Amino acid sequence: MSCKHKHIAIVGAGASGLFLAKKLSEAPNLEVSVFEKNRQVGAKLRASGGGKANIFNRDIRPEHYNQPAFVSDLLSRYTPEQLENQFAAWGLVTVADEEGRVYPASQFSQTVVDVLTDFASDNIHLKTEHNIQHIVKEGDKWIIDDEPEKFDVLVLASGSPAGMIPKNQRGYNGYLQDFSLKTNPLQSSLAGFLLENYPKSLSGCRTKAIVSLFQDKKLIHKEFGEITFKDDGVSGIVIMNLSAYYRRLSSTHDCRLEINLTYWDENFDISAYLRNNQNVTGLLHPKLAAFYQQHPFDIHRLTFPIADTYSLDTAQVAHGGIDLSEIDYRFKVKNVQNLYLLGEILDVDGVCGGYNLFFAFASAAVVGAELLR
Ligand SMILES: Cc1cc2nc3c(=O)[nH]c(=O)nc-3n(C[C@H](O)[C@H](O)[C@H](O)COP(=O)(O)OP(=O)(O)OC[C@H]3O[C@@H](n4cnc5c(N)ncnc54)[C@H](O)[C@@H]3O)c2cc1C
Repeated sequence: MSCKHKHIAIVGAGASGLFLAKKLSEAPNLEVSVFEKNRQVGAKLRASGGGKANIFNRDIRPEHYNQPAFVSDLLSRYTPEQLENQFAAWGLVTVADEEGRVYPASQFSQTVVDVLTDFASDNIHLKTEHNIQHIVKEGDKWIIDDEPEKFDVLVLASGSPAGMIPKNQRGYNGYLQDFSLKTNPLQSSLAGFLLENYPKSLSGCRTKAIVSLFQDKKLIHKEFGEITFKDDGVSGIVIMNLSAYYRRLSSTHDCRLEINLTYWDENFDISAYLRNNQNVTGLLHPKLAAFYQQHPFDIHRLTFPIADTYSLDTAQVAHGGIDLSEIDYRFKVKNVQNLYLLGEILDVDGVCGGYNLFFAFASAAVVGAELLR
C-alpha cells in the first residue's frame, strides 16, 4: 500500500502506539495523529518492570504465550534481534541480564518513552487528553469523535485495563462498541493467587521456593524464584507466571499450589534435620517456622487450593481481548480496509520477562513496515 499523503490515526499512545508513531516519523509525507486519553503518554510503559521497563527478551519462546502459533509466525517476520537493532538505531542503549531480559541501560523506563517520542520529523501530532468515544467510517475515511480531520488509516493501540484501578477500568476501550469485532472476556493474567485455607499469619513473609501449579494430579507448570505471602494469598514473578498458565486452562477447578521451601535441594532430608534439631527455626523464614510449629506441614509440599487470581487491577496483563481470527498476519483487520490492531488490545498475553512489551513493539514494527511500503 502506498501511503503518500495519507492521514493516519493511532488510538493510544502506549508502548505499541508510540513505537508505531516513532517509525512513521521516518516518513514526513505521512500525517499521523496519536490520540491518548491521559495527560501523559506511555503510562504503562513507564510503570513496567518496576520503573526499569523490561522491554523485551532475547530469547522469546512462543510457548510462553497463550497464542504460540500466532507468535511463532510473528517471530518468523520480526525477531528480538531486529527489535534490539531498531532500538539501537534510535539511540536507545540496552543491557541484557543472564536470563536474556533486556532493559534500557539507564535502568529507567522514562528513557524508552523519551526515545519513542523523539520523532524524526514534525509529522506526528500527539493529542493527549483525548479520550476517544466513537469512531465511524464514512466512505473510505475514518471519523473520530468530532475531530475535524478525516483519516485514511486507523490503528487501534489502546491496550487493556490490566493494572488500572477499577474506577479507570469503566468504559475502557468503549469506542470498540462501534466495531463488530469478536472479543474474548478480559481476565487477569500475571497476577497473584487468592488461596483457600490460607493462614493470614504468613502475611509479609518473603522466601525463595520451587512452586508447582497442579490441576488434580496433573502438573501444569513449575518455577523457581521468590514469592511473597500476602494477607490472602501469594504474589511474585514466579506466581505471576504460574497465573498465566492457570488462565489458559479451559476450566480452573481443582487447582492447587505446591510450594517446596527447600529450593536449594528439592530432596532435602527434613527427617535427618529434625533428628538433630528440635524445630525448623534454623531452616525456614521465621513466619513459616512459627506456622510449622503450630501446624506441622510437608516443607517440600506446602499446599493450598487456588480460589482465583487477584483482580485485573493488580494484574500486569489481561488475558482475553480481540480474537486473533479478526486479523491477518500483518495485524490488519480482515474484510475492513485500512484498520489495524496492535499490542494488548488483542487476545495475546505472555509471561513475565519482556514478553508483553515484545509483542506490543513487534506488532507495531510489522504494521509500521506495512504502512511505510
Ligand atoms: C505494573 C506493570 C508492569 C509491567 N511490566 C512489564 C515489563 O517489565 N515487561 C513487559 O514486557 N511487560 C510489562 N507489562 C505489560 C506491558 O506494559 C503491556 O503489555 C504493554 O504496555 C501493552 O502495550 P500496548 O501499547 O498494547 O498498551 P498500553 O501501553 O497500555 O497503551 C495503551 C494506551 O492507550 C490509551 N487509551 C486507552 N483507551 C483510550 C481511548 N479510548 N482513547 C485514547 N487513548 C486510550 C491508554 O491510556 C494507554 O496509554 C507491565 C504491565 C504493568 C501494568
